[in-house]
This record gives sequence, structure tokens and C-alpha cells, in this order.
Amino acid sequence: MHNGRGSDALQSPAQTVVIGGGISGLACAFRLCQLGIPVLLLEQSQRVGGVIDSVQQDGFLFERGPQSFLSTDLLLELIDALGLGPELLRADPRAPRYILTGGRLEPVPMAPPALLTTPLLGISSKWKLLSEPFRRSQPPANDESVADFVRRKFGSELLELLVGPFVSGVYAGDPEKLSLRSAFPSAYQWEKDYGSVLRGAIKSRPPKEKPRATLCTFRDGVVTLVRTLGEKLGDAVHRGASVISVRRGKTNCKSQFELQVTSHGRTELLRASAVVVATATEPAGRLLAGISEQFPMHFAKIEYAPVAVVASGYRREQMQHPAEGFGFLVPQRERLRVLGTVWNSSLFAGRAPAGMVNLTSFAGGATDPDLLHWSDAEVADTVAQEVARVLKITGPPVTSHVQRYACALPQYNLGHNVTIEALRELCAASPVLFLTGNYLEGPSIGVCVEQAFRTARGVQQYLALTGELAHDLEGKP
Ligand SMILES: Cc1cc2nc3c(=O)[nH]c(=O)nc-3n(C[C@H](O)[C@H](O)[C@H](O)COP(=O)(O)OP(=O)(O)OC[C@H]3O[C@@H](n4cnc5c(N)ncnc54)[C@H](O)[C@@H]3O)c2cc1C
Repeated sequence: MHNGRGSDALQSPAQTVVIGGGISGLACAFRLCQLGIPVLLLEQSQRVGGVIDSVQQDGFLFERGPQSFLSTDLLLELIDALGLGPELLRADPRAPRYILTGGRLEPVPMAPPALLTTPLLGISSKWKLLSEPFRRSQPPANDESVADFVRRKFGSELLELLVGPFVSGVYAGDPEKLSLRSAFPSAYQWEKDYGSVLRGAIKSRPPKEKPRATLCTFRDGVVTLVRTLGEKLGDAVHRGASVISVRRGKTNCKSQFELQVTSHGRTELLRASAVVVATATEPAGRLLAGISEQFPMHFAKIEYAPVAVVASGYRREQMQHPAEGFGFLVPQRERLRVLGTVWNSSLFAGRAPAGMVNLTSFAGGATDPDLLHWSDAEVADTVAQEVARVLKITGPPVTSHVQRYACALPQYNLGHNVTIEALRELCAASPVLFLTGNYLEGPSIGVCVEQAFRTARGVQQYLALTGELAHDLEGKP
């Protein structure tokens, strides 16, 4: 898998340069290597992984970003290719999830019979849900918000109690602003194709014999995935290499781009025949301003939600609630800063020492950005007090860890599809320029990997088309 290049200095020309070593950039670079395309990945920090990182603290295994990932087919393929199968841990798919309502935790109904009996919803919401397949409709022509869609199809109770909390669990987002067609494209498509989201969901169910995707992590945390990708890429990865700008190269030379890169205190010029930008939108806009001023303009339209991740360890006897299952989500009307809490040590083994419990809470999000200005201690205290009330905990946590992101998750807000289309058109005008990242097709790790693999395929097709690949692979099997 190694490229055979020295790792100290940046050497050019690399055929393809990937900028950004989060899961998107790593997966793209790995796939390019698998396709036999020489690649150089430039990551500004000293470690790869971006928002994915796991830390050992006082015997607890805390996740600073994503807590787990869904076992999509492609992700499992990648895990297999990396030899990480034996490290994989799967959560019990039946682990109950809870919603906080009136200060109490109620299980989320996961199947139709539970929907009928759940005290979470009144009779009118239940009727709207169960009769939805028979009330055919079509999505409006304009971009509809998730909130408007749910109110139109199911009523405001479902929005407040189930969809709102779910949306904050995935996007830390505001359902009034998130676009249904961009944030939940399947739901949009199901209504369009079948006149009903439930009918569409049933028709699109995978065959019974296919194992359902489950939540997974690794024995040593989610970081195993990015760390192993970094190791496999070997000297194709340059850490501490910050790209300052990307410009078009001279037209008569084979290298289409010139990158200004700062590494080890030196600024160097690097040539590349294809560039994949795998950073968040703000740096992407800055880097590509020299190609077109329209890049920063369009990228600036994509907002991010801030999130604080508070991981805490407690002694089991401090808690009255068993905290068995996935965890709980909090509707806005409960007026808490906590958006939700994952019960990590109930989901996966090895997250806490014996007799201890590992909980991770999320606070902030698009609807509560002020939290970003608080100190870590204030965030940790507030979260501890709120979680203590819900789970009947006495005393402070034995240890805790706060990680804050000013720009945690891109918001697929109204008009997102237009912005993405404009960015795609800009890239099409520079055929050797590719974008990959969590603002394009979905923020989950699985979707980032799928998108990154497709991007690598696009690079391969382009290079094959222009003959550069054939030239560079000449003589290779
Ligand atoms: C708090 C939180 C919880 C989450 N929970 C889950 C979850 O449970 N399950 C799930 O599937 N997903 C989850 N996600 C989403 C998922 O983790 C992210 O969408 C995904 O990891 C983003 O990867 P990325 O590579 O696109 O971006 P990033 O991880 O942001 O990586 C971008 C990289 O680019 C580098 N970079 C930036 N500028 C430059 C430059 N000029 N030169 C060189 N390098 C540069 C950065 O240093 C960074 O390493 C969560 C995200 C967050 C923040």
C-alpha cells in the first residue's frame, strides 16, 4: 500500500493530492492506492482522523467525536480490507433508546405494536402515523423543511417528541431549517415515488436474509479505523502539512495544479495532476479562492452546528437508573442544554473499568449555539447536573472529558441542494478538481466513506480518460 516516497520532504509531482486527513480524505486516498494511483495525502495536524479520536482516561475509553458507526456494506468491506474484523464490536440492535418527556425516560417505539401502546404519543398522532400509508401525497415543489414535512404528514406532536430529538441526534440541527430533501433524501424520495414515506420505507426494506446494519465500534475505539488507514497509507501521508492555496498550473505542463504547502516551517510548491479537497467547507473555500472566487462564496452558505461532547465516568452505585440500552434524546420542550446522552458502557464492552459506567452527552447544536462561549468547566457542570437529574445520579462524575467543536456538523439547511449543485458545476469546469466530505451526501462515517470511494473512482476515470494513468502505470501489472 505504501507509495515508496520519502516521508520527510514533500516531493513532487505526486499524481493525485488529497487535502485533509479526516475519514473522507483517508478513505479516498486508500481507495486511490487500491486502484493503483499514486497519491499524497496532506494533513495539517500531527494526527490523522479529523473529528474522529478516542482517548484513554482514568481507565475509561472516551470518544471525542463519533461514538460509533453503522455497519454499512462498504464500511464492512473496508474494515475487512484493513484486517480490522477481529477488532470490531457490535452493539445489540435491540438496545432500547429513550426519549425524555416530563423529566421521565420513555422507550422509543421501534415497531408498530409499540407505537400503539407508547405513552409518548396521543391518539391523534398514532392515527396519523398508522394511516399515513393510505393518505397519499406528493412533496411540494419548493424545498421543504423537516419540520414542515413532519407537521404536514404527522402533526406537531411527532415533530416535538420524536423527529426533533432524532434530528438533533444526527445533525445537532434545527428541524425548522434543515431541508428534508437534502438531510433525509430517502424520506423525500419515498413520498415522491410512493405517495407515502411509510409505504416507501416498507418497499425499500432490504431482503430478510440480509443482516441489518448495526452500531459498531472497535475494541480500542472508533479511532482504530482512521489510525489503521493512516498506517496502511504509510509514507503517502504527510502530517503537519497545511495547504495554503491551490492554483491552476501552467497549461502546457502535465501538472494541472500548483499547491502552496507549509510543512516543517517551510513553504513549498507542489504540483499535482488531480486534487481532491477533503476538508470542511471553510478551509475548502479559502484554498480554492484562487481557482474561482465563487468557491468561497458558495461554501460560505453551508452553516455548521457547534457541539460540546462531554464524556463522563461514574461508579455504578452512584446511579439509580440502570442506563441499559443506547441512551436518551431530549426534546426541546424539556428545556435542557443536553441534546442527548449515549450509554457507551452498556453498548460496548471495554469502555469503563469494572463497576463503572461510561456516559457521553452532547450539548449545544444549531438551536443552542451560546454554549460555545462557556468554559469547559461550566459545560461539564451543567451537563453533569442535568444528566444527574435524569438518571438519578448522586455526586459528581469520577472523571470527565470535554471536547468542543465550533463547527461540528454541516447543516443540510433549506437550499443546500442548490449550493451543492453550484459547487459541482464549479468542479466540472475544472475536471481535475474533486470534492469529498461530510457536507455533500450525509455526515455519517459510512456515507463519508461511500462518497470518498466514489470520488476516488472519479479520479481514476479522469486519469484514464486523459491517458495519464496509462502512462504512469506503464509496465505495471
Ligand atoms: C461530535 C460529533 C459526533 C459525531 N457522531 C457520529 C456518529 O456517532 N456516527 C457517525 O457515523 N458519524 C458521526 N459524526 C460525523 C462524522 O464523524 C463526521 O462527519 C466525519 O468524521 C467527518 O470526516 P471528514 O473527513 O469529512 O472531516 P474532518 O474530520 O473534519 O476532517 C477534515 C480534515 O482536514 C484537515 N484540514 C483542514 N484544512 C486543511 C488544510 N488547509 N491542509 C491540510 N489539511 C487540512 C483537518 O485538519 C481535518 O483532519 C459525528 C461528528 C461529530 C463532530
